[in-house]
Amino acid sequence: MDASDVLSLCKRRGFLYPSYEIYGGVAGLYDYGPLGTAMRNNIVEIWRRLYTLGEGFVEIDSETIGPEVVFKASGHVDEFADKMVKCKVCEEAYRADHLIGDRHPNPGSLKEEELDDLIREHGITCPACSGELSSVEEFNLMFKTVIGPGSGRVGYLRPETAQGIFVNFPSLYRYNREKLPLGVIQVGRGYRNEISPRQGVIRMREFNMMECELFVDPEDKGWPRFKDVKDDRMRLFANDGRELEISVGDAVEQGIICNQVLAYFMWFTQEFLKAIGVDGTRLRFRQHEKDEMAHYAADCWDAEALLSFGWTEIVGIADRGCWDLSRHIKFSGVDMSAFKRFDTPQEVERDVIKPKYGILGPKYKALGSKIGKAMEATDPSLIKDDSVTVEVDGQSYVLSRDCFDVARVKEKVSGVKVIPHVIEPSHGLDRITYTCLEHAYTKKEDMEMLRISAAIAPIKFGVFPLMARDELDKVAMDIDQEIRYSGIETYYDDSGSIGRRYARMDEIGTPYCVTVDYQTLEDGTVTLRERDSQAQIRVKVQEITLVARAALCGANLDQFVVGENKS
Ligand code: AMP
Repeated sequence: MDASDVLSLCKRRGFLYPSYEIYGGVAGLYDYGPLGTAMRNNIVEIWRRLYTLGEGFVEIDSETIGPEVVFKASGHVDEFADKMVKCKVCEEAYRADHLIGDRHPNPGSLKEEELDDLIREHGITCPACSGELSSVEEFNLMFKTVIGPGSGRVGYLRPETAQGIFVNFPSLYRYNREKLPLGVIQVGRGYRNEISPRQGVIRMREFNMMECELFVDPEDKGWPRFKDVKDDRMRLFANDGRELEISVGDAVEQGIICNQVLAYFMWFTQEFLKAIGVDGTRLRFRQHEKDEMAHYAADCWDAEALLSFGWTEIVGIADRGCWDLSRHIKFSGVDMSAFKRFDTPQEVERDVIKPKYGILGPKYKALGSKIGKAMEATDPSLIKDDSVTVEVDGQSYVLSRDCFDVARVKEKVSGVKVIPHVIEPSHGLDRITYTCLEHAYTKKEDMEMLRISAAIAPIKFGVFPLMARDELDKVAMDIDQEIRYSGIETYYDDSGSIGRRYARMDEIGTPYCVTVDYQTLEDGTVTLRERDSQAQIRVKVQEITLVARAALCGANLDQFVVGENKS
């Protein structure tokens, strides 16, 4: 099996369509069809509930377009780039690290010159026409636009949902009654002008993300529920080359994962992925190399799934320290700190500016006292070139050193300001959806099947009458409606042989089918068939929604079995 089998089934059966196909399509853009949309929504809903109901996090929905300053602060405008080469003959563009492939253990970490050298050394040419390649250059992945008419303001489409959470931190912190930890999630689109997307929904130019930003006290990276999961195991591929199956607790104790919060959310990610049907034996966490790690990250692990493309990052989990908030403080001038309250007030020493009112008075007359007050409120760290600048009544005043002293004072304080640290599990929703599809895909003698977990299957029950006559169809339609009205997705099908109908449902991953036959008319029972085992039992029509719910919860259905299956 390779990705083209899965993608062609996805296209044929309404999971994924290449966007704008009637106009020839655009690389890196995909639409979700009815089944893909339903399945993706199911994944989102499970993820959302795990974070909000399970962990008490809050969800927001911020804009996908933002002014330049936001992405200057985040570093994306200046640094969010991939290394590109172009064919000198056909002008096709490629990501240089992708062309290196397995000629280097980690081409993503190489600099331009190193990539250039490897390309020359291995005689790598254009994969399309064998033409000579240009030297490597940086290509910024941001989609630029203009906000408003005329000259407007430069804006960008967001490359991740995270910045929308960071810029709202002061409001969210207030909403959380000024307490840490504060977990915020967001589901939405991200835009990256990828150089040459060629792997279906693995690399898209507009894609879906589920991101979580967890703000914690920088001095406290413990996590209350860590103790409950510390004996569970994870498969780690550390950046010192070790591959280990290790318990969550040991990984932290041995310093392989840098703190409990990061380890807990790696475990949490693993459990979420397994719950939606990612194969645990094809899942690992790979630690970023030191030179691959974003400059702000204290530690970073990718949840990788083994796909037909090789090991592929599907979730990135990083300890981003205080980098994001510090940058937004610097660029916006807004105080984005949190207040850490002590259990009992503590005496602390700090430097303060002491204005010399004897000098300010004669110099600034009536304004002297206002200027003095403003100086007292200014942090001495803002003294530059022995002067301090304050603003009074909309006017700036630069006060030289003869106008103030700096004194050390003792005072009782009830807490200190801290810039929270951020732990970020960032999920690529399209990659996760595709992983679920590829891990569920099986093919036996030309029969394709998706063994999608019932939790995310877009359609949970197929409902068929054996024949579309003799009242069988009416009974089947009633059953179909009853299950649907109880909130469970069904598909009614009365055409073709029963075998064909089962096969059609297997192909789209429907976990259960109900068949109404002549026995139904005699004894009020129907056949319930399970996709993976193909086992069939008879259950009462009267109990059908109860059975449906129990089946979807994975309950033992023996209690519902009645009589023999005669058909
Ligand atoms: P990053 O911020 O680069 O760590 O991305 C977060 C997650 O988004 C990754 O783990 C991927 O699953 C996903 N992702 C990143 N870039 C793309 C893309 N171009 N297309 C689809 N998914 C992506």
